[in-house]
Amino acid sequence: MFRLFNRLHEIKEIPVDVMEICEVLSNRGYQAYLVGGGVRDSLLGQTPGDWDIATDARPEDVAALFCKTVPTGIRYGTVTVIAKQLPVEVTTFRSESHYLDGRRPERVSFSKTIEEDLMRRDFTINAIAYEPLHGQFVDPFEGRKDLRRKLVRAVGEPEERFREDALRMLRFFRFLAVLGFRPHRRTLKAIQPGLIGNVSPERVQTELSKLLTAPAPGRILILMKQTGLLEEILPELVEGLGVTQGTFHRYDVFTHSIKALDYSLPRLDLRWAALLHDIAKPLTRSEDADGIHFYRHEVEGEKLAEGILTRLRYSKKLVDKVALLVRWHMFSVHAASTDKALRRFIRKVGKDNALDLVEVRRADILALGKQVEHSGWQNWQTLKERVAGILCADAALNVTDLKINGMEVMGVLGISPGPKVGQALEWLLDQVVEEPGLNDSEKLKSLLHSFSKKQ
Ligand code: ATP
Ligand code: MG
Repeated sequence: MFRLFNRLHEIKEIPVDVMEICEVLSNRGYQAYLVGGGVRDSLLGQTPGDWDIATDARPEDVAALFCKTVPTGIRYGTVTVIAKQLPVEVTTFRSESHYLDGRRPERVSFSKTIEEDLMRRDFTINAIAYEPLHGQFVDPFEGRKDLRRKLVRAVGEPEERFREDALRMLRFFRFLAVLGFRPHRRTLKAIQPGLIGNVSPERVQTELSKLLTAPAPGRILILMKQTGLLEEILPELVEGLGVTQGTFHRYDVFTHSIKALDYSLPRLDLRWAALLHDIAKPLTRSEDADGIHFYRHEVEGEKLAEGILTRLRYSKKLVDKVALLVRWHMFSVHAASTDKALRRFIRKVGKDNALDLVEVRRADILALGKQVEHSGWQNWQTLKERVAGILCADAALNVTDLKINGMEVMGVLGISPGPKVGQALEWLLDQVVEEPGLNDSEKLKSLLHSFSKKQ
């Protein structure tokens, strides 16, 4: 049943390594607290991804106390202790100072108390400390109360906190999405979109990725749109607002994209592809007596998607993958297509992408906002099964699946390494995709003679 308030869990199952580090620090007379996401997530009954320890020991003291340490962020007071099973970040109590235009603090000063350290943290739910040896909380901002109320609220004056570090604005929305929480009104009102330009694209990327892979990030993007922050980060997406699409669609391009995002599987590349698949529609829209058109929006969309994701410093692998999914999302094979047509499709888009495209199509159909008839879903299901079937079968869909390799091609054609070898292999693959029976060493060799003549 949906609960308005969270019942908080006890903090248990703290990894042995983490407990041992706290014990070592405590035995030497230092304070040691668990802080941040680990405390928050375990109070919510989830298994934390990582545990952070805060201490009054100076970084050099921490480094001296443990065998294996890495000075991960020594300037910020963080030492990573390589324990038996996992690395644990140990950070000296800090109070922040000297922010440069909403960037990270230029320098930090260490502080003596956990209370001061908690004061510099972003949200009350992230500013709860737990002393694991005596089982005691330090929670001066009532973070546990906000966890119960499902509220994300800034520590202190929201405007000031966002001005200090503008990334916090995006973290705010990220936590709303990932935790499914409500925004604290004054914190939401304090969003200052213009500041986000001060934050490095890499930091924006990290938070955006977490936001987009949350269970249903659509409502949060809409909230970000209302504050003006979305336009600063993804102006191309906001362009879709009010762009109507004709009878098949119930929503404008913006809303359709947001719905597709929510409907897609929570994998980063699929989520981006769903969000950006129609990104060039505002740019390509035309209208005539036949209705509304978006000619070549997938071709323009590929370029736009590539630009957006490169701007956010995503890896080339992710950029290429999403751009490809956007490029081919209008694919035309369907449940009743011939095997040959399905093989051509898979060859064109690549074996690794065919089923992902079918997945993007599912999100796209659902996001039309129209009742999809049962037969419509059966068709989608059949298409998926047939594509999967062809991928499982032994059909050659890739040059490397051919029963001939580059060396043999060179031998038969009497040529040395060069682009022609690749061209010959591609041509052979074309023949085999049409007629799988041709994938036989001898047959391919004799086929090569006709390639040679054609050239
Ligand atoms: P995640 O589950 O993504 O790791 P997290 O809350 O642990 O979430 P981290 O980025 O690992 O997030 O940061 C650890 C803690 O450091 C946060 O819980 C918060 O207390 C503090 N923190 C992180 N970034 C900021 C920031 N920009 N401003 C203030 N405090 C921050
Ligand atoms: Mg963390």
